[in-house]
Amino acid sequence: MIDVQTARIAGTVRHSSVDGPGVRYVVFFQGCPHHCKACQNPETWDPAGGEEIILEDLAQEMRRTKFLDGITLSGGDPLRQPAAVICMADAAHEKGLPVWCYTGWTFEEVLAGKAGDLAVEALSHIDVLVDGPFIEALRSRDCIYRGSSNQRLIDVPGSLAAKKAVELKDI
Ligand code: SF4
Repeated sequence: MIDVQTARIAGTVRHSSVDGPGVRYVVFFQGCPHHCKACQNPETWDPAGGEEIILEDLAQEMRRTKFLDGITLSGGDPLRQPAAVICMADAAHEKGLPVWCYTGWTFEEVLAGKAGDLAVEALSHIDVLVDGPFIEALRSRDCIYRGSSNQRLIDVPGSLAAKKAVELKDI
């Protein structure tokens, strides 16, 4: 049981069609240490910015939202607040919704503990990790749900079982 009750977020979108397949509830977490050049959301970098919210309120709003195919945790970097990621992911799974999570760390970096021990644990609560920093020189319009071609759609349960990154084949 993880004892965390609040999180800092930049905002939410109740029905997004651009942050993963289908219609998704999206939480934009506040705070990002990666500072990628040409980031689309630099206002989410400051860990003290955004607003503090009660996680249970956020989970309740997500539960009340109809016509969802999944939830997406974006940012900022959600894995800076891994306890909140676990809380929202578990609430989504209870509702039968798959969980996508964006991060500026690579899957291998998260697994190696670069984002902290709890972020390693958070992996096992996520279905798909969209990983790696945005690299302007690799910007591509062909990469669905990603900004640059270095970023991958990682099948997290499959990758944890295989002990190496397994990219999603079918979306
Ligand atoms: S990881 Fe994402 S939010 Fe953070 S700086 Fe890079 S593009 Fe921006």
